[in-house]
Amino acid sequence: MYEVYALKYGERDTTTCQFFYREAKHDPLTLHYFVWLILGGPHPVLVDTGFLEDDARARQIRNYVSPATVVERMGVRAADVPMALISHLHYDHWAGHSLFPSAEHWIQAEEVAFWTGPFAGTPAFRGSANVPALADLVTLNYANKIRFVHGDHEVLPGIRLYRVGGHTAGLQIVTVETQRGTVVLTSDASHFYHNVETRQPVQIITSLPEMLTAFETIHRLAGPQKLIVAGHDPMVADRFKPVADGIIKIA
Ligand SMILES: [Zn+2]
Repeated sequence: MYEVYALKYGERDTTTCQFFYREAKHDPLTLHYFVWLILGGPHPVLVDTGFLEDDARARQIRNYVSPATVVERMGVRAADVPMALISHLHYDHWAGHSLFPSAEHWIQAEEVAFWTGPFAGTPAFRGSANVPALADLVTLNYANKIRFVHGDHEVLPGIRLYRVGGHTAGLQIVTVETQRGTVVLTSDASHFYHNVETRQPVQIITSLPEMLTAFETIHRLAGPQKLIVAGHDPMVADRFKPVADGIIKIA
């Protein structure tokens, strides 16, 4: 049976009006930055790769630790991780890919197409990009390190990808079968529990209907156990079990 961990590698402060869709309140809001690690299968499976020091400096990230360091605290050598499931290609989920040089990266084909297509460089979208990390997609593709996913797909028995879109063109979420039930790693299909529980979108959007549908998909996949892991919510540490500094055991 699989075990799932959320590994925190940074924090950032903003306000609710800067983040939630059509939100008028100026309340303070802190984002936590995570990668997720699935153990107990034939090999470790990483979900997302975080980012490097350059983005931490440029984007006022507090308490940054390299995602490779947080993975190695789990007894897994970053250089040996063979499989990374990439929820989407925003800088905070993709720009750390070089920390995991052995990994095959499983990404929705639609997500890759978007970030190499006509809207990627527009003011509406470019702020979420780390351009050199996106350019690396070409090099990695020619090295056979990109696995293109088309829609929903089971990558290992009990580990499944679901394309939901909404926040980005090919955003995918991950479910993992565990002893406690089905864990749903929402990544940015629900940055906070507030999103999925009140159905309030965030401001970065490629399709609002897809984002709203994703909230229902998360609830359906999670079932009555509700093992939902929001993508950037400090409350993940309250709803699940912190086992060491920055390490939260989900199941
Ligand atoms: Zn994110």
